[in-house]
Amino acid sequence: MPEILPFRYLFGPGPGNAYPEVMAALSHPVIGHLDPAFIDRLDRVSEDLRQVWGTGNPRTWPVSATGSGGMEAAFLNMVSDGDVAVIAVNGLFGERMCEVARRCGAEVIKVDHEWGQPIDVDRVLSAHPNPKVIAAVHAETSTGVRSDIATLGAGKGDALLLVDAVTSIGGLELRADDWGIDIGYAGTQKCLGVPPGLSPFTVSERAFERRVKDPRSWYFDIGLLGGYVGAAEGHTRTYHHTAPVTMVAGLEAGLDRILAEGLDAVWARHEAAGAALRDGLEAMGLELFAADGHRLPSLTTVKVPDGVNSTGVRAHLLERFDIEIGAGVRAYRDKIWRIGLMGPNASPASVTLVLGALEETLAAVG
Ligand SMILES: *Cc1c(COP(=O)(O)O)cnc(C)c1O
Repeated sequence: MPEILPFRYLFGPGPGNAYPEVMAALSHPVIGHLDPAFIDRLDRVSEDLRQVWGTGNPRTWPVSATGSGGMEAAFLNMVSDGDVAVIAVNGLFGERMCEVARRCGAEVIKVDHEWGQPIDVDRVLSAHPNPKVIAAVHAETSTGVRSDIATLGAGKGDALLLVDAVTSIGGLELRADDWGIDIGYAGTQKCLGVPPGLSPFTVSERAFERRVKDPRSWYFDIGLLGGYVGAAEGHTRTYHHTAPVTMVAGLEAGLDRILAEGLDAVWARHEAAGAALRDGLEAMGLELFAADGHRLPSLTTVKVPDGVNSTGVRAHLLERFDIEIGAGVRAYRDKIWRIGLMGPNASPASVTLVLGALEETLAAVG
């Protein structure tokens, strides 16, 4: 038996804590991946995912992979040799998009931004006259910044809009159809409050028609996945790969939990928690990192004060309070902390807990 580790409050940029309903569903008996009960579950999950994405796309399902796998699936099916992809980069995940698109053979037009700033929609739209794809990250988890996808979508013209919604889905307003998102991928472990392992995915019919035929991946070929996702002729289900049935059960429980609360209420809960955390951090004399007016509620970035040992603070929070917060990325590793309030963590109690612990920690080891 593996050791059972203590409960941690996961206020990092990675997994948030899971909703209790999800952990209960994960302990249910395993069923077969072609059992009619599982097929029904997959259909319900796809329907629920349409709601959290804000889409009517029939091709909406959980890709059997993490968020990065969803990113691979999105690019592999949309760009191939010589296709132009304009990619807005304002943090680590935009950088990752460029690398994935390059490996697909795309001609990548990278539109760089200073980290901590939202994307400049005009600059992104004027980067190339007729790209096949325009890609952007809605919620940049490396910097704590939200970008304006609606305006990007309104100006996309004939291009396909590809969006990373990993740290926004199930926590922030997200309206794939209204905003013109053609291909979107997400993750379960951020605001959806489900452990990592699946990538909620959606593709418009327009994007499906313009997909790469014979993409350089068998596993992620969305043309072959039709039988699995229920989009095939007559909705017959055929074996494609063995779906991670237990993870899908966990995702269903998470989506049920969120939709029962109501999407508007869930978004408002995240916004309120983020605002309270920002206020509390500033009241402690700390300075926020992300550009004012574009700060994510689900992931708050705060500057490490001069002379404070950022690693020591994080270690003390973990050892003394069982609280995990994140370090910065790349050049910001020791310069910022990243505090996530995702899913069940987006609550007044969590804000009080993390602020109190941080205050005591700064006094003890700062
Ligand atoms: C976490 C994250 C990813 C990667 O997801 P994994 O599940 O770690 O593969 C991609 N994009 C963003 C914005 C993320 O926050």
